[in-house]
Amino acid sequence: MRRAIAGAEVGDEQKLDDPTTLALQERVAELLGQEAALLLPSGSMCNLIGFRLHLRPGGDEVVLAANSHPVGFEAGAPAAINGAMTRQIDTSTGIFDREQLATAIRAAGDRYAPRSRLVSVEQTTNMGGGRVWPREAVEAVLGLAREHDLRAHLDGARLLNAAVAADTPAAAYAGDFDTAWIDFTKGLGAPVGAVLAGSAELIAEAWRYKQMLGGAFRQSGMLAAGCLHALDHHVERLADDHRRARTLAAGLAEIAGIDLDPATVETNIVIASVADPAGLAARLAQEGVLVGPAGPGRLRAVTHLDVDDVGIERALTAFQAALAA
Ligand SMILES: *Cc1c(COP(=O)(O)O)cnc(C)c1O
Repeated sequence: MRRAIAGAEVGDEQKLDDPTTLALQERVAELLGQEAALLLPSGSMCNLIGFRLHLRPGGDEVVLAANSHPVGFEAGAPAAINGAMTRQIDTSTGIFDREQLATAIRAAGDRYAPRSRLVSVEQTTNMGGGRVWPREAVEAVLGLAREHDLRAHLDGARLLNAAVAADTPAAAYAGDFDTAWIDFTKGLGAPVGAVLAGSAELIAEAWRYKQMLGGAFRQSGMLAAGCLHALDHHVERLADDHRRARTLAAGLAEIAGIDLDPATVETNIVIASVADPAGLAARLAQEGVLVGPAGPGRLRAVTHLDVDDVGIERALTAFQAALAA
C-alpha cells in the first residue's frame, strides 16, 4: 500500500482532474450500485454530509439506532451541524425492524412533532457487535421508508464485512439507499479516506458541503491509491478477520468471568460482558492486547489485518492471566 501511495498518479482533485481519485470514485459508485461517488476525509464526514443532503434545519428528524455512530461518536454533529433531531430506536444489536421503524415515524402533517425525513442504517452494526442486517431486514425498512416518503442513508463503514460474511454483493445492500458509503480506514487498512455514493445530483450537492467543511483536497490521488490498493488486496481477506473473531469469541466464552455467546459473532467485532471493562482493558494493554470498554459491563475487541492467528492466541492467554489475577 505504501508503494501504491508513493507511485500514485495525481492531479488537482478540486479541479476534478486527479485521475486516481476519479478512478476510485467510479469504482466505489459501481461497487455500491450507485451513480456517482465522492472521496471524503473520513466516515464521520460521510455521515455528516449524507445527513445534510437529506435534512434541513427546521425540525427535521432522522430515525436511527440509539447505539449508532452518529448518535454516540460524532460529537453531536446531527444537532450541531445538521440542525436535526434524532429519533433513536433502542436495539442491542443495532438492527431494527419494520414495526420499530413504524413506531418511530411521526404522523404526517402533525404540527406538534418533528418532521420525519430520513432513516439511517448501519451495516454492519458497530456497537451492536458487528451484526449483519439481512437483506430482507434492509428491504423491509426501506419499503416502509418509501411508503412514508423518507430518504434512506446507509452508514457502510463496514459494509464490505457484511458483503463478505453473507457472500452478498455490496450493491445488493447499498443500491436502494439514497446515499451509502464505505470506510477505507477500518478493516480495509488504508490511512485516510471514505467514499460517499449516491445519485449524480446528490453527489454534486455533496461537493458543495465538502468544500464548505474544508474537506476538499489537492493531490488526493495519494490517498485514493491506498484505497484502491485496499479494494484490490484487502477485501476477500476480511473473511480471515471474521474467522479469527470467531476463534477469539469461542476462546473467551470458556474463560470464567466472561459472558459471551459466540453465536452472536458474525463479522470482526466481539463484544463480551465482564465485570470491570476499564480495569480489564488496562491490564490487557500492559500485555500489548488492545481492547476497548464499550459501555457498562461491556468490552469490545476488533480483529483486523494487523492481527494474525498468533495474535489471537496471545490475546486469549492475556485474557486468562488478567482474569485469573
Ligand atoms: C468508524 C465509524 C464511523 C466513522 O468513520 P471515521 O472514518 O472514523 O470517521 C461511522 N460509522 C461507523 C459505524 C463506524 O464504525
